[in-house]
Formats: sequence, structure tokens, C-alpha cells
Amino acid sequence: MTQGNGPKRAIVIGAGFGGIALAIRLQSAGIATTLIEGRDKPGGRAYVYEDAGFTFDAGPTVITDPSALEELFALSGRRMSDYVELLPVSPFYQLCWEDGTRFDYVNDQARLDEQIRALEPDDVAGYQRFLAYSQAVFEEGYLRLGAKPFLKVGDMLAAGPKLAQLTAWRSVYTQVSRFVKSEKLRQALSFHTLLVGGNPFATSSIYALIHALERKWGVWFAKGGTHQLVLGLLKLFSDLGGELRLNAPVERILTEGNRATGVCLADGSQIPADLVASNADVVHTYRKLLGHHTHGVVESNRLKRKRHSMSLFVIHFGLSQPPVGLEHHMVCFGQRYRGLIDELFKGPGVPDDFSLYLHSPCVTDPSLAPPGQSAHYVLAPVPHLGNADVDWSVEGPRLRDKILAYLEERYMPGLRANLVTSRIFTPADFRQELNAHVGSAFSLEPILTQSAWFRPHNRDKVIPNLYLVGAGTHPGAGVPGVVGSAKATASVILEEHG
Ligand SMILES: Cc1cc2nc3c(=O)[nH]c(=O)nc-3n(C[C@H](O)[C@H](O)[C@H](O)COP(=O)(O)OP(=O)(O)OC[C@H]3O[C@@H](n4cnc5c(N)ncnc54)[C@H](O)[C@@H]3O)c2cc1C
Repeated sequence: MTQGNGPKRAIVIGAGFGGIALAIRLQSAGIATTLIEGRDKPGGRAYVYEDAGFTFDAGPTVITDPSALEELFALSGRRMSDYVELLPVSPFYQLCWEDGTRFDYVNDQARLDEQIRALEPDDVAGYQRFLAYSQAVFEEGYLRLGAKPFLKVGDMLAAGPKLAQLTAWRSVYTQVSRFVKSEKLRQALSFHTLLVGGNPFATSSIYALIHALERKWGVWFAKGGTHQLVLGLLKLFSDLGGELRLNAPVERILTEGNRATGVCLADGSQIPADLVASNADVVHTYRKLLGHHTHGVVESNRLKRKRHSMSLFVIHFGLSQPPVGLEHHMVCFGQRYRGLIDELFKGPGVPDDFSLYLHSPCVTDPSLAPPGQSAHYVLAPVPHLGNADVDWSVEGPRLRDKILAYLEERYMPGLRANLVTSRIFTPADFRQELNAHVGSAFSLEPILTQSAWFRPHNRDKVIPNLYLVGAGTHPGAGVPGVVGSAKATASVILEEHG
């Protein structure tokens, strides 16, 4: 390891958005960084599949807050537009209900007001009050606290009065319901927490900030797919001199007493470092990678008892027809909202009904499919394996057939006759492929008692040169969240090692 004040060497385990963003920050600051990824491609949840001429992004598709990404390039005086192009998406989402109601969630106030009025005239004013509330929590929860490491209880106490003033103890749905009466509008303004693994009926109303964040910066899509954004960030990392290693699962974080000294890979090779940061699942990090250290055992047992976010069931499919009558992002609400969400977060089985998110990227960028054809994915939130121990090798194909039939009947006529290719990704795959505890899609559930100081800290409590980055640490899941976590973690590292 580096002696004295010589140049430092860092290892980041996992090339998800959080790991990549941290590696860029460290490398930009002159710390020689090796990014080590277990799978054959980088991106983590933002993996990519290429199949029969279609490009299927595995995970994130709604890119918000491009300024947080731009910042990673600006650190070394570069511009994001030289690496990847972001395309605006409008409407942000189309929200659909089974009675045929459609709501284009756009950034145009007059069009929004007109649609809100059609749902409930009184809600036009109520929406304005909600927007003002959302902007206030955005200022506090995102701009001020989003990338601040909560290492000490004092940090939490300092944030407390403002959070209390913003009634952070209320759920997003409760808070939204104080402003608008229409049940459909309540769903439209509260479903966002599901995109970061939160139950709208349990997640702190601080998460209402997502609405203001989208209104401020818009919704974007990377040209060529989200994976192009991953590759653009990795090109930046490589241009800065960073090293990426793929197909290199880490077996163990090496320690001497209470210091991390490097990592041991599955092939037995060892890589020394002055500091180690893990972007892998937090339970996996402590249980498997630090399982030889008492602290790893204690911490993983503590984390296992926490509430973990639900999982997702995803179908990627290619059609021999263009995306007719579809918008890029569609949220298709089923008959139940509260009852369904309750079952998704508690189990004990896969509910008979579902609400869906349908992704049709060719609406914005036809290059993701062969000419005249279209790539899609549809996802349904489902309980994680700790709440519903389902045999997904049986349930997966059954649920796929049911969802495709539902889409064909309501949104995509002729779907199955035009199906060229399809693949599924289940909670069992989240566990197997991504080492996700109980197959959770978003790590720890973002409830108030598991947020900020209550979330696993950006720096470990016992091993001071071990750090966390990604969905399991502050502030939490979602691309802006994990990119913010990288900023928080880097600020601690650079204070100590910079
Ligand atoms: C289907 C889906 C859709 C989503 N849609 C959106 C969206 O539209 N917008 C949005 O903002 N967010 C979205 N999210 C959430 C967002 O994608 C995630 O919160 C975020 O990408 C997680 O990033 P992360 O940094 O925590 O790392 P992850 O993506 O979890 O990556 C962690 C990496 O660590 C690697 N790893 C694990 N163990 C080891 C080991 N032992 N050795 C080496 N490597 C290891 C894994 O292989 C993986 O590559 C979505 C998530 C999913 C699943």
C-alpha cells in the first residue's frame, strides 16, 4: 500500500451508476482507481441485452437531473455532450387507467391544468399548493441534503427541525391527499416512490420532491439507450486514466485489524489498495465480502432485519411492428392501488392483478430496433423473495403470458402475433445476477427510519477506510440518488485521503 502522503490507490467494487460515479470522482481527484465488476458488462441494474437486432436496457430508462451527470464531466473540464447525447422525453409519462382515462404528465402548466380540471376542478388550485410543497422539499431534501454524508447523529439532529416543518413523518400519499381530491390525481402524484423502491403509503413525504425535480430539469433518455450513458461515463473514467476490470467477482475485502487493505477476487488474485468502496448490495458486502470479520457478521445480521424494497418482474420484448399508439413511458394502473401496493410490500404471494410500467424507447429513438420494428420492456412490481418465496422458474413464464395478454387486450393490439423475441428477469435473477439480498430491486426501503443517518453510512463505522456507494447508502436508489451517494462518499474520502 501507499506509504505516507504518496499517491493513493482506491478500489471500487461494482460498476453500477453509483460505483462508476464514485470512480470518476476519485480518479478526477488524482486517486488511482480500479473499478471491479463481477459481470461481463458494466452498469449493474443498467445492464444491456442485445438480441435479434434489438437493444434492451435492463433497468433505468427515466433519466432525471442531467446536471448531476454533467457535474462528473465538469470535474475534469469536459462536457457530457462529447460523450453521450441526452434526448428530451415528452410527455414525461402517460398515465393510464382501466376505465380508459389517460393523463399526459407534461411540463406544460396549461395542458396540465386542463387535464387536472377534467378530473376534478378544485384540484387545479390544490395541485399548485402541492407543487409549492414539492419545491420546498426538493430544496431541502435534494439540493441541501441529497449529497451530504450523514455520518454523525448530530447531522440528523441538525436536519430534524426542517424535516419536521415539512412534515416528513407523513407518507407521500397522505401528503398528496391533503392537496388534491381526485383519486387518480393522488395516484399520479404519488406513484413515483415506486421508481425508487418506496411504498407511497409508507415512504416519507420528502420523496414528494421527485415531482419538483422532474418539473425543474425534465425527463431525458440517452440516445442509443441508457447503456450508452454507462459507456459514456466509463469512457470518461478511462480517459482520466482509471482502470475497469470486468468478469472479476470480488470474493473478499481484505483486512488487517480494522483496516481494509484490498480485495481478493474469485480467481484467488489479490489487489492491494489504500481504501475500498463497495457499490455491491449492502447485505452482500457485509455478509459475503466481510464475512471473515466480526463486524461483517454483526452488520449483515443487523441489515438483514431491515425492511427491503420490493422486487420487480421484467419482460423485455421485440416486436415486428413500430410502436403504434404508445408513448415512451406509460404507467398502466390496475384496478387496485392501495390494496395492491400493500401486497407488493408485504407478500405473501404474487398478487393476481398488477400495475405496469411500459417502456417503448423507439418512440424517442428508433435506433433501438431494426427498421420498422420496436423494442419494449414492461415491468410489474412484485414482492421480494423474503416476503414471497416463489419458484420463479414456474411463476415467471406464467406471469409473462398473463401480462403480455393484458397488454395486447388493452394497449398493444396484435402483440403476440408480432413477437420476435422476449426474455424475462425475475426476483431470483436480482438475487443471482446482482447479489441483491432477497432479490430486492432497490435495496433498503426508503422509509424515514431507514433514511439519512439511519441508512448504512457512506463510510463504515468500524473500518474507517471502507466506504459504501449506491442504493443501499444515503441518499438511496434511483440514478440521481446513487450519483448523489457517490458525491457524498467522495466528499468523505477526499477529506480524509485527498
Ligand atoms: C428495472 C429497473 C428499472 C429502473 N428504472 C429507473 C429509472 O427509470 N430511473 C431511475 O433513476 N432509476 C431507476 N431504477 C433504479 C436504479 O436503476 C438503481 O437504483 C441504480 O441504478 C442502482 O445503482 P447502484 O449504484 O446502487 O448499483 P447497481 O446497479 O446495483 O450495481 C451494483 C454492481 O455491483 C456488482 N457487484 C455485486 N457484487 C459484486 C461482487 N462481489 N464483485 C464485483 N461486483 C459485484 C453488480 O454486478 C452490479 O454491477 C430502476 C431499477 C430497476 C431494477
